[in-house]
Amino acid sequence: MVSSSSSSFSPEVSSLQLAMAALIGASFMAISAFYIHKRSVDQILDRLIELGKKSPKTKRIQRVYNDEDEIEVEEEEEEEEEENRDSDDDEEEEIDRILWKQRLSNSRSFDDVRNLRYGLSSSLPNAVLTNYWRSNEEDERKFIDNRSSSFNNLNNLQSNGRDGIMHFYNNAGSRTSQEFLARPLTPKSLVHNGLESVEDFEEEPLLPDEDDNSFLSVPIDSKSMKLHDSIPANYDSTFDSSGVVNDVSAPDKPNGAMVSRSHGDANLLDNQKLDTGPTHIARKDLFDIFMPLKTTLHERPNREEEEVCLLLRQCLELREKYVYRENAAPWMKESVLESNFPMVNNDPFHYDPVEPTEHYFRMEEGVVHVYSNKNATEDLFPVATSTEFFTDMHHLLRISSLGDVRSACHHRLRLLEEKYRLHLLVNADREFLSQKGAPHRDFYNVRKVDTHIHHSACMNQKHLLRFIKSKLRKEPDEVVIFRDGKYLTLKEVFASLDLTGYDLNVDLLDVHADKNTFHRFDKFNLKYNPCGQSRLREIFLKQDNLIQGRFLAEVTKEVLSDLEASKYQMAEYRVSIYGRKQSEWDQLASWFINNGIYSENAVWLIQLPRLYNVYRTMGTATSFQNILDNVFIPLFEVTVDPSSHPQLHVFLKQVVGFDIVDDESKPERRPTKHMPSPSEWTNEFNPAYSYYAYYCYANLYTLNKLRESKGMSTIRFRPHCGEAGEIDHLASAFLLCHNIAHGVNLRKSPVLQYLYYLAQIGLAMTPLSNNSLFVDYHKNPFPTFFQRGLNVSLSTDDPLLIHLTKEPLVEEYSVAAQVWKLTSCDICEIARNSVYQSGFSHAVKLHWLGNKYYKRGSEGNDIHKTNVPSLRIVFRHETWKEEMQYVYSGKVKFPEDIDH
Ligand SMILES: [Zn+2]
Repeated sequence: MVSSSSSSFSPEVSSLQLAMAALIGASFMAISAFYIHKRSVDQILDRLIELGKKSPKTKRIQRVYNDEDEIEVEEEEEEEEEENRDSDDDEEEEIDRILWKQRLSNSRSFDDVRNLRYGLSSSLPNAVLTNYWRSNEEDERKFIDNRSSSFNNLNNLQSNGRDGIMHFYNNAGSRTSQEFLARPLTPKSLVHNGLESVEDFEEEPLLPDEDDNSFLSVPIDSKSMKLHDSIPANYDSTFDSSGVVNDVSAPDKPNGAMVSRSHGDANLLDNQKLDTGPTHIARKDLFDIFMPLKTTLHERPNREEEEVCLLLRQCLELREKYVYRENAAPWMKESVLESNFPMVNNDPFHYDPVEPTEHYFRMEEGVVHVYSNKNATEDLFPVATSTEFFTDMHHLLRISSLGDVRSACHHRLRLLEEKYRLHLLVNADREFLSQKGAPHRDFYNVRKVDTHIHHSACMNQKHLLRFIKSKLRKEPDEVVIFRDGKYLTLKEVFASLDLTGYDLNVDLLDVHADKNTFHRFDKFNLKYNPCGQSRLREIFLKQDNLIQGRFLAEVTKEVLSDLEASKYQMAEYRVSIYGRKQSEWDQLASWFINNGIYSENAVWLIQLPRLYNVYRTMGTATSFQNILDNVFIPLFEVTVDPSSHPQLHVFLKQVVGFDIVDDESKPERRPTKHMPSPSEWTNEFNPAYSYYAYYCYANLYTLNKLRESKGMSTIRFRPHCGEAGEIDHLASAFLLCHNIAHGVNLRKSPVLQYLYYLAQIGLAMTPLSNNSLFVDYHKNPFPTFFQRGLNVSLSTDDPLLIHLTKEPLVEEYSVAAQVWKLTSCDICEIARNSVYQSGFSHAVKLHWLGNKYYKRGSEGNDIHKTNVPSLRIVFRHETWKEEMQYVYSGKVKFPEDIDH
């Protein structure tokens, strides 16, 4: 019988109704239980925040190691380190704290606060485990064993949270919400140390999902590997959440790089087939990782963000207005070099007579102007005026101090950092495999350039000591100096110092920076005097002395031959021009030519010490104009008519850059828009950094235009900047310079740091030198800059004063690699950066980096030359493109070639 009446109780109907009722009842209970549970969790999290505000002395961290397929649990007590902060501590951290406080007051969720710092996916902890060995900040990778936690049930919340991610985002609809995924936290006491709360949270370990532990040790499934390895010849591919390959060349392609797969490297694929052991990431979980980030980045920027982006674009356009670029890149005009590069320069000192040109130049208002002939009135190479420059610099400084721009840039930089970490979590193993697969090449035989080294301190202290002793033994009767009205031989000099060759040791030489030099640039400079004696400096470390710098030339040649013996190390030495007299250039050039100073492993930069006030007091200069005349007039003379200074003409072929140096921490007044011209600058005060920078830039700009028009080599402006002092140094360098030495002070300005990232301005950083002068090693921003993708290289600055070993550059890499746990891939990437930053010629760069080094992205990378996996280069390139798309609202067209 078919029951159609509601009054009749057929067994089927009643059981169906009962089932429905039970289902509804159960669902209701489940939902209520969830909300009750969630509320109690919220309360507990609130309580945790409360606890976090107090400062317990210790925290307990349990670390889970994933060793092969086993999981060990280790317990570790950690004493929280009391950090002594410098007065000039990061402004960035200050922003962290402000943001943290804002979030704290606005949000009830602990996760929101925490993720503000982190910006990580909730699924990340699982991936972290696979790379625990790669940890950079160890504490971040310490994991909690849930079993010992009183918050076991939070796991459920986490998995529920995953489903809720999209919903959460859509409702939030704001940029800052993008990474706020529900993620439970450890119940351990939160350490709170005064204002360091945010930093402490950074060290909070993440809680792995116990249920997910199983996938940690899933061996690679050959099928699933195939899925991502079989994405052929398309580095620019990404997966969407369904595993479909998307073409990320479409305008909106966030995180393409995150999931980019290596393709061009046959070795990589082969290796993966051979060695699949260390990769523990299952295919599906990868998608889980990338999905949330991708979703958020598709969000349209709100109005405030659009305004910020507009301002950032203005800054980038300002830089393009100023910075000197050759009309044609070297790879455009010297196509013949690609097939047949002349590696051997037969005679670097050969002088080819060059006919002078009609060009006429005149110094006007501190800047040389060039005319086609004496009667012409049209300025051939007009350059922005000082008023224009100072106006733009102030505009840039104003933008970099706006609160919303600072927050936005800080946020983007944090995002960049986390993207890099995510990249490592997913790809570190693959990068390593890729490096293993590159035959012959390793860190020792990739080219690395010491991008920042002062010539007079280029030898190490042991080398100098040995040299002095040998001279004292072999040439004791050489007349070396004129002091106190009489000529002295080397033997007499040492007798006057009451020293014998036997007494001399490295300690007596006393040229090493020590604790007394920290924040004392003056004392640091005094260390250039061997045994504290300026006369020894004059004899051994000067070019313009009684013996015409013969000793310095000899020791330089020894350094150069050591460099050549190492084959893969290069250096860019800085030699001084002081601007006290015009003959300095000829003197310097003749020192080079007469002593035959040349090496294929070295190029030279000119450094101008910013010492106007000293010369003014001594009476050597009467106005700032004197210095500009002495520095630049000879350069224009030799460019117009090489026969006027033939040696200088030859020497300038080796000169690739111009630098300004001195203690940046000296107080100075920031220039206003209308400054007195250099000829009016007759007072005894030293002009500000940016004043020096502008006038050097403007004269170099005109000089380079002229030299380029005559087919001569150009000289880039690559000053010391951002080692200490005010932020306007970095602002002026952003507008004017190709790249800079130091740049540590970028940590104080998120806006400038982000702009330096976008413009990929090279930073020749020197953490060991900073450690002696301005920034303790463990506070050096180098690792952060590196992670964020700034264009950083490592350099030595002053091996004589700082380094201990025979290979100072390798020492610099070594310390950085040890302290910051850099991988082989990292240091090879840094070495690659250094070659790009350097002023070595296009021809040798082709040889060192590969035939297409000037192409952006993976096309420009040759792992067989650089030992950098294309996976890494693609990640950097795609990430950079995403940032540019963000700033230009998706309307940027990327050039194929690098900037030149
Ligand atoms: Zn330096």
